[in-house]
Amino acid sequence: MELRDLSDHVEYRAGRGIEEVARELGRDPAEFVKLSSNENPHGPSPKAEAAIRETASEVHRYPKAVHADLTAALADQWDVSDKQVWLANGGDGALDYLARATLAPGDRVLVPTPGFTYYGMSARFHHGEVAEYDVRTDDGFALTAERVLDAYDGERVVYLTSPHNPTGHRFTLDAVEEVADRADEDTLVVVDEAYGEFTDAPSAVSLLDERDDIAVLRTFSKAYGLAGIRLGYALTPPAWADAYARVQTPFAASAIACRAGTAALDDDEHVEQTVESVKWARQYMHDELDARTYESHGNFVLADVGDATEVAEAAKRKGVLIRDCSSFGLPEHVRITCGTREETERAVAVLNEVLAE
Ligand code: PMP
Repeated sequence: MELRDLSDHVEYRAGRGIEEVARELGRDPAEFVKLSSNENPHGPSPKAEAAIRETASEVHRYPKAVHADLTAALADQWDVSDKQVWLANGGDGALDYLARATLAPGDRVLVPTPGFTYYGMSARFHHGEVAEYDVRTDDGFALTAERVLDAYDGERVVYLTSPHNPTGHRFTLDAVEEVADRADEDTLVVVDEAYGEFTDAPSAVSLLDERDDIAVLRTFSKAYGLAGIRLGYALTPPAWADAYARVQTPFAASAIACRAGTAALDDDEHVEQTVESVKWARQYMHDELDARTYESHGNFVLADVGDATEVAEAAKRKGVLIRDCSSFGLPEHVRITCGTREETERAVAVLNEVLAE
């Protein structure tokens, strides 16, 4: 029995949790703060927590009806039709659905480097091949249509991350449209707005009405603080009609996820407070870190620290978990998630201490 060779994929690992790190170092988990996975340090809305508890008594039932509630709430929020909303098991799951809907074996996709690793994985899972566009410049990073189109060679799917992980930069809507306009007619442009709530820039959802070659990805994992329930979605062109029904698994999201998501959408204040807190933390890191930082529109800041692995390891020993970006191909950079005020101040103090050593 021979399995497919997906050995490239072992490079991707979800960030390790506090318990695992504490165990490895023989320390108490309470000594650590985790700012390595771009999670929401404030947790979800109390309304979502209540919905999760209430759903406990219903979990012997399949979740079909709650899909409808959440889909309708999202369609309302984005002013699109229900059929344009593709619920999924996290943004990752939505990426899989888009790959499933578009890729034939051997089709190529174009992904950013450095960038979010799952684009390439998802494409390979669906028998696609991966080409890259580089967002690095001599002096930083650039997210422009030119960067993408210089590398573009007829790929079937092009991924644009806006705001980008791990740089925090964003594409303008003009740039998104330019890529879609200049790419072939049957190239899909996926605009990943997993961090969309943290930028004041408009969403690419406004482009969907006019076109059939752009899809937008959103998630409940970041601003809504629901990373653990795995809920995300794609917003797709009206012209795609019934395509979702053809690619979705029978139950694209769990009953708990759907109830929590629906309740979370009903608490704008919680999202607003999270966004305010992120904006404060971003500014604080820009102002106080003794390292070069880059303008960020996400809930994290990228910093040039010289030796990322050494600095991240030293910070870990001092109780602060941040992301060593070597695995993104950035051996000199770390990515620090915006924490609570206390967590962010501690992270900056620890990092400055490490940088001074
Ligand atoms: N896109 C980007 C750019 C991300 O950073 C992430 C998560 N880290 C995702 C999509 C997927 O998030 P999730 O599957 O938790 O919705």
